[in-house]
Amino acid sequence: MSEISAGLPPLLSDWWQSLSSLLLAPESRTFWGYWLSAALIVLLWTTTSWASRKHYLKPWFTLSYWWNTSTRQEYALIVLNALLFSFLGLSNVFLIIQIAINSNAFFSSVFPAINLSDNSLVATNSAVLISIYAVILFLVDDASRYGLHRLLHSRWLWRIHRVHHSAQVLTPFTLLRLHPLEQLLYQLRLVLVHGVLTGAYFFIIGSTPELWLIFGVSGFIWLFNMAGANLRHSNIPLRYGKLEVLLISPAQHQLHHGAGGIHYNYGSVLAIWDYLFNSWHSGKHDFALPNRNMPLIKQLLLKR
Ligand SMILES: [Zn+2]
Ligand SMILES: [Zn+2]
Repeated sequence: MSEISAGLPPLLSDWWQSLSSLLLAPESRTFWGYWLSAALIVLLWTTTSWASRKHYLKPWFTLSYWWNTSTRQEYALIVLNALLFSFLGLSNVFLIIQIAINSNAFFSSVFPAINLSDNSLVATNSAVLISIYAVILFLVDDASRYGLHRLLHSRWLWRIHRVHHSAQVLTPFTLLRLHPLEQLLYQLRLVLVHGVLTGAYFFIIGSTPELWLIFGVSGFIWLFNMAGANLRHSNIPLRYGKLEVLLISPAQHQLHHGAGGIHYNYGSVLAIWDYLFNSWHSGKHDFALPNRNMPLIKQLLLKR
């Protein structure tokens, strides 16, 4: 891939990099390894009740499932968003560092008395503190995704999020069916949450979070992705049984895409936020996707 991008002008090279990283970078939810694990889960799920489930496999081997009006809009959005964000050149790492520096300065000025960084207690218990911090980072990150998703369903932001909900067919690419403004909002959320919490970590511990901590948090997400996260945008109604109170299953997110379930299951990884804020529903109900949608250009221009 890098050989291909080497001969391109910088903007095109960045564009190609961000497009190819969707499939090649393990941080991306559409990483090829997660596709593989999703395929294995589908195989396992189908073979445990072959007669009643084998028909779910059929679409995966037909061109019309992957290439239709709805998926073509998705592919166009993926290409467009990669281009727009390469052009903007927003670096998440750069923004996180800037926000962390400012947050640390803010915490130090507001709470000068509770800076623990030169307290020996912190040094001796740092492994415990770091573990607590990893869990907090994961929880805040997931809760903020839930909060933003609920906001996107408000009447002010709905036309932006409507693009995601206009999918007539769910394929794993539907995850990236986002209006550029929605992608921008999610990116701002990410840098804000990670920036402020990194600043808080520096304020309390007196150093930047160690690498294993970052990988530790990614570990939760990695597990979630390996557990079939790509199937939430698919025709496979995989359920997690009693675990659905804790983790959002593919069937629960599919319900969110249906006309009757749109006000349920806003959660990303954890279902507890939906449970706490009265938007939880199990994934057992049938769902009906929209049978028509607007031309993409009208959706992008947020037309009525
Ligand atoms: Zn939604
Ligand atoms: Zn979705």
